[in-house]
Amino acid sequence: MANVKCPVCDADVTVANAVMGELLTCADCGVELEVTSLSPLTLEEAPEVQEDWGE
Ligand SMILES: [Zn+2]
Repeated sequence: MANVKCPVCDADVTVANAVMGELLTCADCGVELEVTSLSPLTLEEAPEVQEDWGE
């Protein structure tokens, strides 16, 4: 269990069991965050998911 600052709004985000590439949602601003490093535990704003995959 770890607390990391949201890179967008600076709120504390609790990460129960961090896994590389895990996606989390900031409870404060609602942004999607991705675990980009485990040591130190780092969160970055996840890229927008493209719903439209086209052909
Ligand atoms: Zn946030």
